[in-house]
Amino acid sequence: MVVVMDLSAGEEQVDAVQRRLEENGFEIHCIRGVKRLVIGAVGDRQIISSLGLETIPGVMKVIPIMKPYKLVSREIREEGSVVRVKNALIGGSNLVSIAGPCAVENPEQMHSAAQAVSRAGATILRGGAFKPRTSPYSFQGLELEGLKMLAEAAEAANLASVTEVIDQASLEMSLEYVDMVQVGARNMQNYQLLRLVGRCGRPVLLKRGFSATIEEWLMAAEYIVSEGNENVVLCERGIRTFENATRNTLDLSAIPVVKSLAHLPVIVDPSHATGDRRLVTPMARAAVAAGADGLLIEVHPDPKRALCDGPQSLDPDEYAALMEELRLIAAAMGRAA
Ligand code: PEP
Ligand code: MN
Repeated sequence: MVVVMDLSAGEEQVDAVQRRLEENGFEIHCIRGVKRLVIGAVGDRQIISSLGLETIPGVMKVIPIMKPYKLVSREIREEGSVVRVKNALIGGSNLVSIAGPCAVENPEQMHSAAQAVSRAGATILRGGAFKPRTSPYSFQGLELEGLKMLAEAAEAANLASVTEVIDQASLEMSLEYVDMVQVGARNMQNYQLLRLVGRCGRPVLLKRGFSATIEEWLMAAEYIVSEGNENVVLCERGIRTFENATRNTLDLSAIPVVKSLAHLPVIVDPSHATGDRRLVTPMARAAVAAGADGLLIEVHPDPKRALCDGPQSLDPDEYAALMEELRLIAAAMGRAA
């Protein structure tokens, strides 16, 4: 349920509502929006009407939330939330671009990728140091050494950084080096990991699972927010369907659907969605036109030699050309890029 307070309600009135809820076993999350103060309460729905919340001064209305996700729901926060990652504001008026190689390979590769994506207009550098690969024989990432290379390259190019974490140890290590942590498609329903990143104090990029419905994806986000971390960005990266002409099927309709259901920013990863560099640009255009708050794109200085996901990686020139085109589409959508 959410309790919407009058904008004029004083601190004592807010406290009185919170006390009543807590005494009755509800977990409280206070959300101060621009237009209203909302107290989100998660607990036993059956007893709501017996609490007499409407009679407490300062309470405007009490709205039960029927959806299984509560804290990420639009019902709790009318305006979209904006997640800050260093200087990048995801969900704000600017389209935010995250780019970089699939995996961190060596300092030169990271440095060159960082400079190229920064020149083209990206503000967040990506690079995997812990790679959850389908095959145990594929390159698994450079771990700690990779994190250091990512951090150095990001710093030199004045970019923020994001990397994927796969368990508690990789999370703890990554927190020393990056500005944002990513939970990958394979771990979207790793509830233990979701709880850990919910307590890590850093923004989280939550990818959609291969076979996750939008509701399951939002429930995964709810895990993170319920641990106290509101800085969650959702990333649509394609889902598994019967179609095998592309690596996955990019669910573009997820963008407006999620935006109507939840207040979290949504970005799109056309690289993993298609698996083919020739399809990255058209799908990136479509994602921006459909209202995405940003893009995650794999860029490698020399895609032919990439240790991971070369076929879907753009080279620096292709990325620069894509970013140039996106500026026009973003402007048509009322955003700067
Ligand atoms: C990635 O971003 O490198 C990655 C592995 O993506 P996903 O989890 O979407 O497959
Ligand atoms: Mn990849």
